[in-house]
Amino acid sequence: MSEFTMTIDGKAETAQRSFGVINPATGDVFASAPDCTHGQLERALESAQTAYLAWRKDEARRRQALLDCAAAIQARAGELAPLLTQEQGKPIDKAMMEVMGSAIWFQYTASLSIPVEVIQDDDSARIEVRRRPLGVVGAITPWNFPLLLGVWKIAPALLAGNTVVIKPSPFTPLTTLKLAEILRSVLPPGVLNAVSGGDELGAWITAHPIPRKISFTGSIETGKKVAAASAPDLKRLTLELGGNDPAIVLGDVDPKAVAQKIFASAFENCGQICSAIKRVYVPEALYSPVVNELAELAKALKVGNGLEPGVQIGPLNNEPQFARVQELVDDARANGARIVTGGKRIGDKGYFYAPTIVADIADGTRLVDEEQFGPALPVISYRRVEDAIERANATHFGLSGSVWSNDRARATEIAGELECGTAWVNTHLALAPNIPFGGAKWSGIGVENGSWGLLGFTEIQVVNVNKS
Ligand code: NAD
Repeated sequence: MSEFTMTIDGKAETAQRSFGVINPATGDVFASAPDCTHGQLERALESAQTAYLAWRKDEARRRQALLDCAAAIQARAGELAPLLTQEQGKPIDKAMMEVMGSAIWFQYTASLSIPVEVIQDDDSARIEVRRRPLGVVGAITPWNFPLLLGVWKIAPALLAGNTVVIKPSPFTPLTTLKLAEILRSVLPPGVLNAVSGGDELGAWITAHPIPRKISFTGSIETGKKVAAASAPDLKRLTLELGGNDPAIVLGDVDPKAVAQKIFASAFENCGQICSAIKRVYVPEALYSPVVNELAELAKALKVGNGLEPGVQIGPLNNEPQFARVQELVDDARANGARIVTGGKRIGDKGYFYAPTIVADIADGTRLVDEEQFGPALPVISYRRVEDAIERANATHFGLSGSVWSNDRARATEIAGELECGTAWVNTHLALAPNIPFGGAKWSGIGVENGSWGLLGFTEIQVVNVNKS
């Protein structure tokens, strides 16, 4: 089994103990990761704190370092992508997209400026609004896009002048450890530390006095714990949490064409995307054709081990997530919903679940009300679009949503009524490095990406020079 190491103060470190990492396509442990001790975390945080003193001073150097990070990722993409497929489950071409996307994010972030606004400059005073870095950032990531979501934090945090200690999910620690290993030759010691371990390691980071900011992506439940743990010493927070994105279809669309686009945005990454479509509202008149088309697409999807050619979606990432999807679909079935296709395990090893379309289901059923985070899509019929909007909003979730219509103006108006961080029209999952992304309500606090995301790794300092 290959040996993966943490990166602490620019050096490789193993730990006294390690934990197994399972390939979700086989259900077998295929590698192991170090289980970071208290003492090692302490050293990682202290190293980040020391490195911060010099790192924060030279913006031009940081900008160049980000470009070097991008180049280093591109050069080692051939190693990172299959590793990502093995630990996460996604098809190899999608893994390669995530790796290349990570390089693009570094490149784009390097192009952002850190603004200094002069709000007064006259005989009496010069007043500048500057952006200072915060210090050490604790970055905590989930298992669905371990590499990219880590880079969404690392790149802007570093550009702004912070240093980072990153902790990936115990289900997918390896690409993050590998990334930090690759970047050892690019970044000064201590600027990026990567530690691996269980959930308690995340809790140690959030409770520790050194990090001045926690940038967290994960579930709402854990996000609330992170917020509570950050409160005693008022750490700054960005929380990117769960979603239950509605897609509202209007009555004027071609059901087949719209079903194809909705399907792609619901089943990408085996449905394991925070802002995937997780419930679809369809007018009664179009209900059958939309459901039938979705079911045909689900049946045609090639599910398998992501390392095999032609596979379109892989397994669920882990056993608890598999059990959760199964439980929600079984609950829908028990409550009278119609499983149009899927609704069962595929094979007897790994965590493969058949792409599932659930019809004749309504709000109040767990599969509609909760975040399934898997390949099972409920389709709900509506009579009045006002009802669909109300139901779409009747939730604590508020990540994103979409409206589908040939009447773009009408759809845009409805999109504006959705209580969420991103409201798409005739598209979904359209994310890019220059577009801010974040959740309303319980789906998050703050945003990532673009200049808005960068500013989240800074705080304002007013420099007010009296001239009189
Ligand atoms: P999770 O909350 O279980 O874990 C996320 C990370 O938090 C992991 O690294 C975990 O080890 C760590 N953690 C667990 N307990 C902790 C604690 N008490 N203190 C600090 N850290 C702790 O989430 P998950 O199951 O890995 O990911 C799936 C969830 O993430 C879904 O809800 C999904 O919607 C959400 N997500 C959101 C976004 C977004 O940008 N909004 C993106 C991807 C995933």
